[in-house]
Amino acid sequence: LLRLDAVGKTFGTHVVLEDIDLSLAAGEVVAIIGPSGSGKSTLLRCINQLEPPTTGRVTIGDTTIEAGHTPTRRELMVLRRSIGMVFQSFNLFPHLTVLRNVSLAQERVMGRTREQADAVSMQLLARVGLADKAQQFPSRCSGGQQQRIAIARALALDPQIMLFDEPTSALDPELGLEVLSVMRELAEGGMTMIVVTHEMRFAENVSDRVIIMADGRIVEQGPSGTVMRNPQTERAQRFLHAVK
Ligand code: ATP
Ligand code: MG
Repeated sequence: LLRLDAVGKTFGTHVVLEDIDLSLAAGEVVAIIGPSGSGKSTLLRCINQLEPPTTGRVTIGDTTIEAGHTPTRRELMVLRRSIGMVFQSFNLFPHLTVLRNVSLAQERVMGRTREQADAVSMQLLARVGLADKAQQFPSRCSGGQQQRIAIARALALDPQIMLFDEPTSALDPELGLEVLSVMRELAEGGMTMIVVTHEMRFAENVSDRVIIMADGRIVEQGPSGTVMRNPQTERAQRFLHAVK
């Protein structure tokens, strides 16, 4: 479904990502963990071209985007439609109701009518447990609720892949759990996901595969149980020892 070949990213002379190969099958859930500054967010941003990679290729379905070539509008469109993204900060529009926050992009990007979009939004809000908040403004919702709204908004565009960048790190542990449980349901429902997280339990118990990054490289990857309990490389052992 998604493949990265030798993706690298340099800011000036600062090498942030080096030689990243990654492939993701439909329905797979991959957790990316690693120390601060190791390039995890940059990797997600390179996947959806929010940040153009300096080297390598990103392939999604039958569309390949090569570093150094500006993607065509059609390629960007394919990418933006195929990939949903949820960030640490929720980025909801404060002046729109919860319902309109979830509906707006559907109308703009997918050409749904307001009625169609609102109907889809209501279904998704119910799925994340927030049907009763539809007419509220985001400021009246907790952080955990706002993040679940952001997830509903991303899902509303029918993405093939969901990318999450530390979706719970701005939340109290209890509110984080609400969000993690929605993510777990998504994973169990067969959604293809890449989750950058510091939640080691989520990495170990929900994801199929774990990737450990350090200094812009993948230092270890494999089935989540194996990597989390029995890492082979010294760098991975050191990181897991520090965080567990
Ligand atoms: P964290 O766990 O703290 O979120 P991370 O693994 O997500 O860290 P990145 O945010 O990808 O790390 O950053 C990796 C490196 O790239 C850092 O050294 C950062 O300073 C650098 N970097 C990121 N974005 C830019 C940018 N736009 N310009 C210059 N340097 C950047
Ligand atoms: Mg980050």
